[in-house]
Amino acid sequence: MDLSTLMLYLPVLLLASWPARPLRGPSPAPVVNSRAASATVPAAHLIALTFDDGPKPYVLLGGKSGKGVGSPSLLDLLDRQKIHATFFVMGWRLSKNADALCRKVDGGVCREAADQEHRRGEEIENHTYGHGDFRLMERRYGDEWILKDIDRASVIIQSLTGTRPVYLRPPDWDIWPALQQKIEARGYHVMTKSTSVPPALRDVDSEDYFCVGSDLSKCPKPSDYDYVLRTLHYRERKGIYDHIMVFHELPQSVDLLSRLIPELKGRGYRFVLLRDYMAAVENRH
Ligand SMILES: [Zn+2]
Repeated sequence: MDLSTLMLYLPVLLLASWPARPLRGPSPAPVVNSRAASATVPAAHLIALTFDDGPKPYVLLGGKSGKGVGSPSLLDLLDRQKIHATFFVMGWRLSKNADALCRKVDGGVCREAADQEHRRGEEIENHTYGHGDFRLMERRYGDEWILKDIDRASVIIQSLTGTRPVYLRPPDWDIWPALQQKIEARGYHVMTKSTSVPPALRDVDSEDYFCVGSDLSKCPKPSDYDYVLRTLHYRERKGIYDHIMVFHELPQSVDLLSRLIPELKGRGYRFVLLRDYMAAVENRH
């Protein structure tokens, strides 16, 4: 190959030798904006930010609840921070029948808020259809009823996103081995706080639900923000640098996260969708 031919081909040769996957190391990897980019997530310092119990329009889009409680927009916060999160929604909220109640209680149409979530690149997963207590539901209706309730949520989520949920978080993490096996047999990964799975694959509970309402006696002191940082610090001291963090769609959690996300980014953490987190972390534990 003479020099002029080499010059002609040089850009092509350089491109062909470019690594398909970013190398692990201190250089920042590109922000992952879609599931298609899963393979580019490096396996270090990852956080999957997750939210339960939505969709709640006044929290997601910003506005006021039916009781006049104001909230900044969680989706706008995620956009500003150029990160994405995973939402474990209750299926019933996506049904047309829920529209009136959602307008009255949560300041808008829940289904439309979920549609915004999806359009803005967030991941939507399964928190059952009715959010019924598994033990109570089992006593009343049996295991099959619970499995149908989970599938019912998947069907309505898929009708909105085009994607069948893969992850199931039981209400209040209440689960037992026999039921878990049946849920897994239907293709779901069950989210858990159980010590039977490696810490990096366990949910990290922010306890934000203790910091709402009139009884704040269980809200972590001096603040929930401080509690979450303490929890992560404790994990880091044990060499755990990957975290699945669980919050709820609550105004005070949006406020907490507006301070927490920049703090954790500054420490080198990258925020990714749960699917991308699992793809990167699961094989290492
Ligand atoms: Zn819940």
